[in-house]
Amino acid sequence: MSDVERIETRLDTEATVSIVVPCYNEEEVIGTFHQRLVSEISRISDVSFDILFVDDGSSDETLSALEAIEATDGRAKVYSLSRNFGHQAALTAGLSVATGNAVICMDADLQHPPSLIGRMIESWKAGCDIVWAVRKDTEGVSFVKTGSSRLFYRLINAISDTPIIPGAADFYLLGQAPLQALRSMPERHRFLRGMISWIGFRQEFIDYTAQSRNAGTSKYTYRKMIDLALDAVFSFSPRPIRLISKAGVVVAALGGAYLLYVIAMLFLSPRVVPGWASMVGVVCVLGGFQLIATGIIGEYLARVFEEAKGRPLYIFKRKPEPEERHTS
Ligand code: UDP
Ligand code: MG
Repeated sequence: MSDVERIETRLDTEATVSIVVPCYNEEEVIGTFHQRLVSEISRISDVSFDILFVDDGSSDETLSALEAIEATDGRAKVYSLSRNFGHQAALTAGLSVATGNAVICMDADLQHPPSLIGRMIESWKAGCDIVWAVRKDTEGVSFVKTGSSRLFYRLINAISDTPIIPGAADFYLLGQAPLQALRSMPERHRFLRGMISWIGFRQEFIDYTAQSRNAGTSKYTYRKMIDLALDAVFSFSPRPIRLISKAGVVVAALGGAYLLYVIAMLFLSPRVVPGWASMVGVVCVLGGFQLIATGIIGEYLARVFEEAKGRPLYIFKRKPEPEERHTS
């Protein structure tokens, strides 16, 4: 299908857009989020929406709050995972069940302003396949979080072949073609931003300033952030393992040169080189280096193991009642 035909299809038929919202312990904010979202989307004409909430095994009252929303809003559908599988798995679950012509993913804490949805849909209707909302600034976020986020994007862009725009978080619109492409990618260690950037198509960017969280605290613990960063690095690039082999060549060459020097000294110098200190030094450096190398190989092996197990990425414990799509 040509670009023009694709755009015409989007304009001819009434578009349906699914909004996927992963929620983990968001009882304090979910009601406000829903109100703000609904007031924004009801201003958008020619598009029918459904809102897919994915409860990521919350331990607070998020699920019952969502069920209350589902009971009053025909557009809302609530899915719930059997435990906390993590943000990326919850998003993947939502993407797999979304039925709209396009899907928008956004956070539940109002850090992703619903007011951008209109512009995202306009870009999509104008022929763009993927529309990213890119955070230019975040209000009220700690220096550690901003700094670590900057460092993270710098690192991933330095080593990965897939460019990732700094500030492009999991707030984007995906048209049908990228959605299908994404669904065909079964990998377990998911870094969706990287995967979406990788699949190509026509991608556009809209800037925004993120507000501080509307209520509650961040659900991304440092551990979860580190896990995500590791997934981003190791699932996207074989470069670290190659760097290690290149560094290995350099270290071996230096070691060889040093050995030649030691042998030469043995013949040229009347005193035998005591050598103990340098031996220990070399052993330490090489020992450390080998440990790092083993660790990196282990990272990839662990991933091969995870992929080979082929476990499902998430398990639903609740799905909405099957019913006709709401169209208004
Ligand atoms: N989230 C999730 N599972 C998790 C952690 C977070 O579904 O294990 C959701 C969370 O409810 C929110 C979004 O992912 O809708 C982003 O999380 P958060 O706002 O805590 O991250 P931050 O904005 O602090 O990076
Ligand atoms: Mg947040």
